[in-house]
Amino acid sequence: MNILVINAGSSSLKYQLLNPETQQVLAKGLCERIGIDGKFTYKPEGKEPIKDADVAMPTHSEAIETVLKALVDEKNGVIASMKEIDAVGHRVVHGGEAFSGSVLITDEVMEALEACIPLAPLHNPANITGIKACVAVMGKDVPQVAVFDTAFHQTMPPVAYTYALPYEYYEQDKVRRYGFHGTSHKYVSQRAAAMLGKPIEELKLISCHLGNGSSITAIDGGKSVDTSMGFTPLAGVPMGTRSGDLDAGILEYVMNKHGYDIKEMLNVLNKKSGVLGISGVSSDFRDLEAAAEQGNQRAQLALDSFDYSVKKYIGAYAAAMGGVDAIIFTAGVGENGATTRSSVMSGLEFLGAKIDPEKNGIRGKEVDIATEDSTVRILVIPTNEELMIAMDTAALAKA
Ligand code: ADP
Repeated sequence: MNILVINAGSSSLKYQLLNPETQQVLAKGLCERIGIDGKFTYKPEGKEPIKDADVAMPTHSEAIETVLKALVDEKNGVIASMKEIDAVGHRVVHGGEAFSGSVLITDEVMEALEACIPLAPLHNPANITGIKACVAVMGKDVPQVAVFDTAFHQTMPPVAYTYALPYEYYEQDKVRRYGFHGTSHKYVSQRAAAMLGKPIEELKLISCHLGNGSSITAIDGGKSVDTSMGFTPLAGVPMGTRSGDLDAGILEYVMNKHGYDIKEMLNVLNKKSGVLGISGVSSDFRDLEAAAEQGNQRAQLALDSFDYSVKKYIGAYAAAMGGVDAIIFTAGVGENGATTRSSVMSGLEFLGAKIDPEKNGIRGKEVDIATEDSTVRILVIPTNEELMIAMDTAALAKA
């Protein structure tokens, strides 16, 4: 079974054609500068790749057409015809309270997706455009599935998702914690259960997705019970360029001081804050580590603030669940950043979690990096959101 996974942004579209049963990736790539001029990248398994080719892509439809053409190309293709694509899985950022799992896309689902636009005005319209383009190009017979970043967190109890604001903001305006990176947290929690050889229902897990965007999730019995991102992905730990949690009182003060309107203020919080803001050096953890090594104290402070914040969430979620069996590190920094992992874990020995410095040396592999006598396991698990999307899509397309 071949599933085409699509992640459509406003001017870009990432794609992957894979078989969720064998986990084989047949081809993957990226369309960029959609609506501008159009750049196409295509990496087929065992064949010549195409990099940054100029292809006119006035809309997402041409982007999808370009992808399909490449996939069935006589010389460079990986399938004989479009019929070998059994279904398409779309990453959708926000499903609000309407979606607690992946769904087969119907006209009603499209309406519900449109209704979620106010919750993610930058992301959801692009996701919807991607879906419409696929239906237009591939026809209605190929099942299309929506997989939401928020769905996994719909199991959170009210005590975790309710903000201490006038309650009508929740009732009328749907202001609550939604959480994001759900596909990743779900995937790594399932892998953790497999690695530990235990039913997920019996496990208390804390999953740390640490990348450009970062979020920590408490997963009890396979269900998300709390997560660090909130109504938007701006909340939680400091990220590459996002501030994470802060005192809302700062907004008025800074806006007055600098004459910002709310848009400018949010641009600062989303694009100029986080570890980039503290360090003034970079949003990239490798750059920060290099700068810190050369004695840049603000780069060191940025890294320390990040590690400290992740550590605090781990402590909080262990308390929230009344214990923890395993702590998971995933995404770019979580999978590769040995220094970050060891700094986050230092001081958490009181929980029973002891990192093995030697095992911690690994990168990008599924490994238990806790010492033998650690009562809490510490797992590095490479995330694979595309595979999770493909697995959900295949299950729904088969049903
Ligand atoms: P995104 O949220 O964009 O998917 P990723 O999960 O790819 O981000 O994570 C990107 C981050 O991972 C960057 O800050 C990068 O510096 C960091 N990273 C990648 N490799 C390493 C490494 N070897 N050591 C530390 N950080 C790393």
